[in-house]
Amino acid sequence: MPSRSTLRCILSILSFCAYSQSKTLVADTSHSREAALETKRIVIAASTVLDGKGRVLHDTRIVVVDSKILAIDPKAGPIDYDLRGLTVLPGWIDAHVHITWSFGKDGKNAGGGGNTPEAAYATASNAWLTLMAGFTTVQSVGSPADVPLRDAIAKGLLPGPRILTAVEPLTGRGEQTGTPDEIRAYIRKQKEAGADLIKIMAAGGMRQGGMTLSQEQLNAACDEAKKQGLRTLVHAYREAVRAATIAGCTQIEHGLGATDDDLKLIAEKGAYFDPQAGLLLETYLANKEKYVGTPFFPKTLDGFAPMQEIILPMNHELIKRAVKIPGLKIVFGTDAVAGAHGRNAEEFIDRVRDGGVEPMAAMISATSLGAEALGMSDQIGSIAGGFEADIIALDGDPLKDITAVRRVVFVMKGGMVYKNVARSVIPAYAGVQP
Ligand SMILES: [Zn+2]
Repeated sequence: MPSRSTLRCILSILSFCAYSQSKTLVADTSHSREAALETKRIVIAASTVLDGKGRVLHDTRIVVVDSKILAIDPKAGPIDYDLRGLTVLPGWIDAHVHITWSFGKDGKNAGGGGNTPEAAYATASNAWLTLMAGFTTVQSVGSPADVPLRDAIAKGLLPGPRILTAVEPLTGRGEQTGTPDEIRAYIRKQKEAGADLIKIMAAGGMRQGGMTLSQEQLNAACDEAKKQGLRTLVHAYREAVRAATIAGCTQIEHGLGATDDDLKLIAEKGAYFDPQAGLLLETYLANKEKYVGTPFFPKTLDGFAPMQEIILPMNHELIKRAVKIPGLKIVFGTDAVAGAHGRNAEEFIDRVRDGGVEPMAAMISATSLGAEALGMSDQIGSIAGGFEADIIALDGDPLKDITAVRRVVFVMKGGMVYKNVARSVIPAYAGVQP
């Protein structure tokens, strides 16, 4: 039996061994970490870059390290991704989607989807399609089911755009909605549930239906959100547009029936305006068999006709007026529902073709201005040093032909490449040393 002192000696030797071993391990880890960091430096070559703020850069290179853009350096090399001949721009931001909305097992509109495995897979698919279409950030406004999806994507467990969610919207039901104090408590509850912003339904349907919240109720909702550090997106038509603006809400959605004076007030207050030019209604019309008879939709196929004949032209007229209001900040939100996920960019074409929006303004609305509206203007929406490496490339020039937005051939989000079907691939990527 070894003596106590021998035992102590053996133990100390063992612990010394363990110490030196752990030291070696630490050294090895730091070495491989350095190596890993080195391999994470990515150089993208581009002949045309829209920087998201209205500038066009030519013949340059974007240096990405980890998840961020390190610098714009025309001399950087070696090239990892050759996007010359394409139009490179920041990943798009859609300020208004319903990422969980999908068609159910029976092929019919299932709204927010429910709790079935099919609904969960449909939601994951919506996120994938949206990312593949060049949208690296979306704001989803209307379902608590957004939360686990947002978190799974943020942890890198599922591919999809960065998601901001409003959790459960505040749906106006007149006096039944509650007293101002009850409304304030509801807003705080959404924050506790993980809301990144607050969604408020302050008006009824597109063609009729007045305000569903009083001025006093709206004041309480938007004031409490502000106190909690949250932005407010308000679904508003006609007089609800002005009321929401007066209440200090930060973004007005849809806006049919708004007068020029209402639009001027939004601009004066520095709020953001998000009208839709067509994708939403086109989606309903193209999928009317799937939407007919489901909650909030016409009971017959004929009931969809006014969308084409009356409401679509009203939307176009509104955007045409809105672009003429000095200083009005128009952001890009599609209201993507079932059938629209992955087709979000169609709204750019509608806005340019039917709404009189300049192509460059359309691109800015979904990049730097979109980021500003999300309170993320120092993180996303621009191609510049220090920004998240959210970078996409189009086969074509959207400034000359807006339909180029349909041809997204490269998608990087947070430094990770999710799509690369660019035409020119450098030899190193084809297995040949350059
Ligand atoms: Zn919506």
